[in-house]
Amino acid sequence: MIRPDAPVLLEIRDLHAAVDGQPILKGVNLTIRGGEIHAVMGRNGSGKSTLSKVLAGHPAYSVTAGSVQYQGEDLLALEPEQRARAGLFLGFQYPVEIPGVSNLEFLRVATNGRRAQRGEEELDTFAFEDLVRERLALVQMDPAFLDRSVNEGFSGGEKKRNEILQMALLEPLVAILDETDSGLDIDALRIVAAGVNHLAGPDNATLLITHYQRLLDLIKPDYVHVMAAGRILRSGAADLALELERTGYDWVDQELARLGLAEQPALAEVP
Ligand code: ADP
Ligand code: MG
Repeated sequence: MIRPDAPVLLEIRDLHAAVDGQPILKGVNLTIRGGEIHAVMGRNGSGKSTLSKVLAGHPAYSVTAGSVQYQGEDLLALEPEQRARAGLFLGFQYPVEIPGVSNLEFLRVATNGRRAQRGEEELDTFAFEDLVRERLALVQMDPAFLDRSVNEGFSGGEKKRNEILQMALLEPLVAILDETDSGLDIDALRIVAAGVNHLAGPDNATLLITHYQRLLDLIKPDYVHVMAAGRILRSGAADLALELERTGYDWVDQELARLGLAEQPALAEVP
């Protein structure tokens, strides 16, 4: 929902970032206000996951120029866990398995960290179980997944649902979902989309990173951005995604050539 007077939650200005000294992001600009759903699309290797990891504070990525304001404060000055507690959520493209750490306990600690930041009291085991069971219904997950280690042995779809469960518990202000739709069959996709739509409200914002229109049929974005060569090359409304589905990304090369920018050859995807 676009409201021009809604407060700006995230303001990315000319963001440059590198990994191992190699520049990946080369001037990303993006403004996200409360209530908005943004989709970032683009070919493999265009820098989408790098953008999400830089925002979350992944230590492998160094910001070399530019700024990111989160609720008017310098996001880049915060540690990753401070960002998470302040309501920035990243749903990973490749959720990690954490053997030996119970999913329930992991979710409880994360939820209580976020609650403390908001001045809410800590939930004990019993109170948390009530909350988690209520939120489990949203992603139609079997409670048995709570007793297992975080993501260990989960199927691709189960991991993605677990990410949405985390999101449902943390109630983020800005949720970045990196290819949450990949590897999902249509039923799981519907469940995940319903969860995201349920959680989206006038005061929070969602940044969906996706290759596919099929997710955007279920979660209607207010803005669609196309990334290429570490920048946002074009932005538009929801119909830009439909146009991309028809035309593909061939125009990206022409546009990059016109601007004198080359896209790096897509290397193997980095988890
Ligand atoms: P996308 O998510 O759009 O497919 P990525 O952000 O994953 O793109 O990758 C952008 C480019 O950065 C690719 O060429 C990729 O190989 C490179 N890259 C990303 N992360 C790393 C990393 N940790 N180490 C080395 N190269 C990386
Ligand atoms: Mg990616």
